[in-house]
Amino acid sequence: MFDKSKRQINYLRLSITDHCNLKCQYCLPEKVTKFHNNSDLLKSDEIEKIVKAFSLIGIKKIRITGGEPCVRSDFLDILKKIHQINGIDKIAITTNGFKLLENIDLFKANGLNRINISLDSLNPKKYNEITRGGDFHTVFESIKKACLKNFEKVRLNVVIMKDVNDDEIFDFVNLTKNLNIGVRFIELMPIGEGKKFTSVKNSEVLSLIKKHYILEKHNNLETDGPANYYKINGFLGEIGFISPLSNRFCDKCNRVRVTSEGFLKLCLHYNEGIDLIPYLKANVSTEDLAQIIEDAIYNKKPKEHQMDCIKSIEDIKKIETKGMNEIGG
Ligand code: SAM
Repeated sequence: MFDKSKRQINYLRLSITDHCNLKCQYCLPEKVTKFHNNSDLLKSDEIEKIVKAFSLIGIKKIRITGGEPCVRSDFLDILKKIHQINGIDKIAITTNGFKLLENIDLFKANGLNRINISLDSLNPKKYNEITRGGDFHTVFESIKKACLKNFEKVRLNVVIMKDVNDDEIFDFVNLTKNLNIGVRFIELMPIGEGKKFTSVKNSEVLSLIKKHYILEKHNNLETDGPANYYKINGFLGEIGFISPLSNRFCDKCNRVRVTSEGFLKLCLHYNEGIDLIPYLKANVSTEDLAQIIEDAIYNKKPKEHQMDCIKSIEDIKKIETKGMNEIGG
């Protein structure tokens, strides 16, 4: 479907929980006091109905995210249900990788096409500090295993923070030498705990890398998101840059989000959208739900807004205050 700004919206980021087994310092506070009760999270059959409705309006790609999606004990059931829905041809996950090692074959057999794994340090001690307890070796084994399993794409999400991991940029670049992986540098957004850290502009990361390597723009890569990809001659993988701060991409936005509590969120940065729960509780038909969703998406923030259209107190009230674990990234 197309919104009012004539952008094609074909991608849904679906958060299935706000709970996480890690507490990355820029994402979650040390003492998380407000995880939602499990009973408030969308049930797997509600997720199925929502995704069916989205497929009716032309959504083709679903990214399952969170919190950590794999902490849900019914994750496999959710994956299977989404896999069986006509019209959904890409199922991706964003995960911290902890539950991948033992489940990867099962996930692949049940329709998972693409995996993004978040990894902000290649130094086990630093990784443990950033994540407040994560074991680097478990995640890295999962990454290596995923790369051997013929997924359409395996990518790393790396958020570079000044004086935290900006000394590891080349270590991440060098990973792409022997691993067929996309390493994506993501600019830290000043959302939630992210405000406590200093982001590094991707233009700086790019020019640093260019001092040592010749980067070729990777044009023949099918991208359905805001990343710009480059390759180093002879390297197996590629490097991507997602720059929400320095290069806003509202004009190319192709996505909406549904939170783990069933709120259809139209823009990452604003709390505008609609609560789908009353419609689910009223047991509206999938077709009617699709119409409700379509009408809401049509009124997505215009492509020109670039987050600069905050002019009044009313606008400020609409700015998103949820943490990334609630939004799903
Ligand atoms: N638990 C999963 C994971 O670790 O990938 C999925 C949820 S996590 C919130 C999704 C992505 O959001 C991660 O790649 C994380 O690095 C990113 N993220 C969290 N806070 C961020 C921020 N303030 N700015 C940019 N990216 C952020």
